[in-house]
Amino acid sequence: MAFQQVKNTFLRSFIKGVSSTQRCNSSSGLFFGLSEEQKEFQELARKFTKEEIIPVAAEHDKTGKYPWEIVKKAHSLGLMNGGVEPEFGGIGLGILEGCIVAEELGYGCTGIMTALEANSLGQTPVIIAGNKEQKKKYLGRLIEEPLVAAYCVTEPGAGSDVNGVKTKAEKKGDDWIINGQKMWITNGGVANWYFVLARTNPDPKAPASKAFTGFIVERDTPGLTPGRKEINMGQRASDTRGITFEDVKVPKENVLIGEGQGFKIAMGTFDKTRPAVAAGAVGLAQRCLDEATKYSLERKTFGVPICSHQSIAFMLADMAVSVETARLAMLKSAWQRDHGERNSLSAAIAKCYAADIANKCATDAVQIFGGNGFNSEYPVEKLMRDAKIYQIYEGTSQIQRLIISRNILENAKQNM
Ligand SMILES: Cc1cc2nc3c(=O)[nH]c(=O)nc-3n(C[C@H](O)[C@H](O)[C@H](O)COP(=O)(O)OP(=O)(O)OC[C@H]3O[C@@H](n4cnc5c(N)ncnc54)[C@H](O)[C@@H]3O)c2cc1C
Repeated sequence: MAFQQVKNTFLRSFIKGVSSTQRCNSSSGLFFGLSEEQKEFQELARKFTKEEIIPVAAEHDKTGKYPWEIVKKAHSLGLMNGGVEPEFGGIGLGILEGCIVAEELGYGCTGIMTALEANSLGQTPVIIAGNKEQKKKYLGRLIEEPLVAAYCVTEPGAGSDVNGVKTKAEKKGDDWIINGQKMWITNGGVANWYFVLARTNPDPKAPASKAFTGFIVERDTPGLTPGRKEINMGQRASDTRGITFEDVKVPKENVLIGEGQGFKIAMGTFDKTRPAVAAGAVGLAQRCLDEATKYSLERKTFGVPICSHQSIAFMLADMAVSVETARLAMLKSAWQRDHGERNSLSAAIAKCYAADIANKCATDAVQIFGGNGFNSEYPVEKLMRDAKIYQIYEGTSQIQRLIISRNILENAKQNM
């Protein structure tokens, strides 16, 4: 089916008023299938990945060029901004559908997928906390044109410890003045607008839940300066930069919810975005498995294809086990959020596990390729470099384990 046809079929189900929950709720009990519309959407993303991403992924990795052409095509096909509600021009996709797309795109190139996914990360604070005017203006703009947003929380001195954010915003009349420095901002140099977390309560003893405020900041505001594009180990198509804020004036209309609500918004965002990050890692791990399987059938040693050696076959089996289990964890965390259940724990489990297995699968794929695996002429070297970031961004693997262990311990204490 042609791209536009698949998109239109999918859109029709929305127009008919079939909600995301209904679409994934084909049975009242446990159900592992996708709906017809979800399958079509998956097919659309798969075809897009095969035809538009895979052919150019190595080139973007080499040059670090931002994938604007892909952003434009993905935008025109409805593969971006899926979570924006219909009222503001979007199609109101669930997290689950977002994950289905993210896995497919991640299979092709997680650098390009991250460039697209960071747009979701930037817009999610507005989706969860924006008022009507803010949504209409800023989400509507992303729907109308192939533009991207970015999420600015991390700073040179504060990553895992968000409470350590030093960028400050001070009220002056009807405006807020932001000063500070952000670091490692994906889409930092290409975004049209940013979600920015800044400290608004100067009292160092103020609790995080009240000390920070979330702002929408336009890219062209005087005093906002993105730094150079960082040269990273992997995912080089993605644009990562520091951003300096010098007396950046933001109108009070651009405050999300109200003063002091920023920490909750910034952290709440992750429940919606971590499943999709896990999906990207699952896509990468699946690609490792597919590439390694193909190679093991072709490469011969001692007169037989290397897959005939049990140690190689078992590596493939272990990769398959981990891909399957990570995918289930990722889908569950997305499903929970779409059904209005708290998913902080399942999202942390999915993100943590998918990140770890993506790295293991990439290392094993390189091993199966032998010397060729260490070389950039073969696809798995890039997969190994690209995989590492999954254990770092959107909360490191240590932070995910902190969330998981706290959850377990709190539950245990309550049941004692
Ligand atoms: C390519 C890239 C893209 C990114 N994109 C964005 C973005 O778009 N927006 C954004 O805001 N940020 C972004 N980040 C930032 C990212 O989220 C942070 O790098 C990450 O949260 C870790 O913070 P840090 O680098 O300051 O490391 P630190 O917090 O200094 O941690 C260093 C090490 O200590 C460990 N550690 C820290 N605290 C604890 C603890 N309590 N218990 C156990 N171990 C601990 C960490 O796990 C890590 O191993 C990006 C980063 C990169 C590299």
